[in-house]
Amino acid sequence: MNSPTNCHLCGVGKLRALEAFSDFQQVTSDCKPWPSGGKKACCEKCGTTQAVIDEAWKEACHRIYSSYTVYHQGGGKEQPVFDANSNAGTPRSLKLLNKLTQEIDLPEDGRALDIGCGNGNFIRSFSAVRPKWRLNGAEYNRLCETEVLSIAGVEGFYSGELETIPGPFDFVSLIHVLEHIENPVPFLKKIAALAPNATLLIEVPFFRDNPYELLIADHATHYTPNTLANILQAAGYSIRAIHTDWILKEISAVAMAATTAPTTTVVNPDEELATAVDAVAFLDKVRTHAREIRSRAQAFGVFGTSIGGTWLYSELDGKIDFFVDEDPSRVGKRHLGVEIVSPSQVPPGSAIFMPLAERVARDVVKRLQSASPAEYHYLSTSAA
Ligand SMILES: [Zn+2]
Repeated sequence: MNSPTNCHLCGVGKLRALEAFSDFQQVTSDCKPWPSGGKKACCEKCGTTQAVIDEAWKEACHRIYSSYTVYHQGGGKEQPVFDANSNAGTPRSLKLLNKLTQEIDLPEDGRALDIGCGNGNFIRSFSAVRPKWRLNGAEYNRLCETEVLSIAGVEGFYSGELETIPGPFDFVSLIHVLEHIENPVPFLKKIAALAPNATLLIEVPFFRDNPYELLIADHATHYTPNTLANILQAAGYSIRAIHTDWILKEISAVAMAATTAPTTTVVNPDEELATAVDAVAFLDKVRTHAREIRSRAQAFGVFGTSIGGTWLYSELDGKIDFFVDEDPSRVGKRHLGVEIVSPSQVPPGSAIFMPLAERVARDVVKRLQSASPAEYHYLSTSAA
């Protein structure tokens, strides 16, 4: 076992701590407040930004996962991706599959495995896009087994070790999974053994475009396209495509288990560290800026009830008047005891801070400002 001061990805690099991070309140990946004191660092060798994997981190993850809820504010429904122009919400996984089928030739039938399938949102979209496929889901607990098995085309649900799943598969997906995995290289090698000829689709958050992702206490690794490519190659995969524009603020990668030695992506650890330091500085500015706005507003709201909104609520000691959310399944409910209103219900003259990735915030403002009587504020990442 490596000492906690060694990188959990390459195993050899020493970690350079992001000291300022431990002062931030944190959030769990299922959007619940989590106390400050988290430790994040960047590897001096492979450049990967990561949680320091020590006993405290493992204990925190154990507590987080033992009471986990998927998208609990929306009652289990998948978060839609809002189109900047039409205001139409498309499930994120359907949008991802549409991009994928434009990029690669996905056959009409085959056998697929979605690892970390949750309540089956990706499988449901896959079934709609490729109805002839035999679909399988894997998840560490069996809470959603019945729900997943009821989706058209699903032939199996697995819980437990990857080695026990009967392969092979033609397609394997890891949607918001790899960032949780403590040792991604051996994990990816196990997948290659289970499905040696499969196309692998990986979706992870991109913290440069969405610094709020750093605040997630149970994320083991915070990827950039270069560090993700590096880890895939270290596990013996060759990269078919890697994109940061398929889904806003996320990295989408398509890879194949390599038959020849994969090339290695050159990572500059100093550049990677600078990206992480910038993200931490951005979060600090957001906190200061939001406090200033709240101190002079008649009424103060926080936009969004996911990671950024939950974090800002904690940093402001819960002293906010309302949450604003565009997702109709959340409006009218409460998050952390605070009412959730739609943009059209915002009281005139109030100020709203948007702890959202800049590109997302810009689109929301464009859509809402003319129709809403409130001031909307956000911080540009380039201002950090
Ligand atoms: Zn490393």
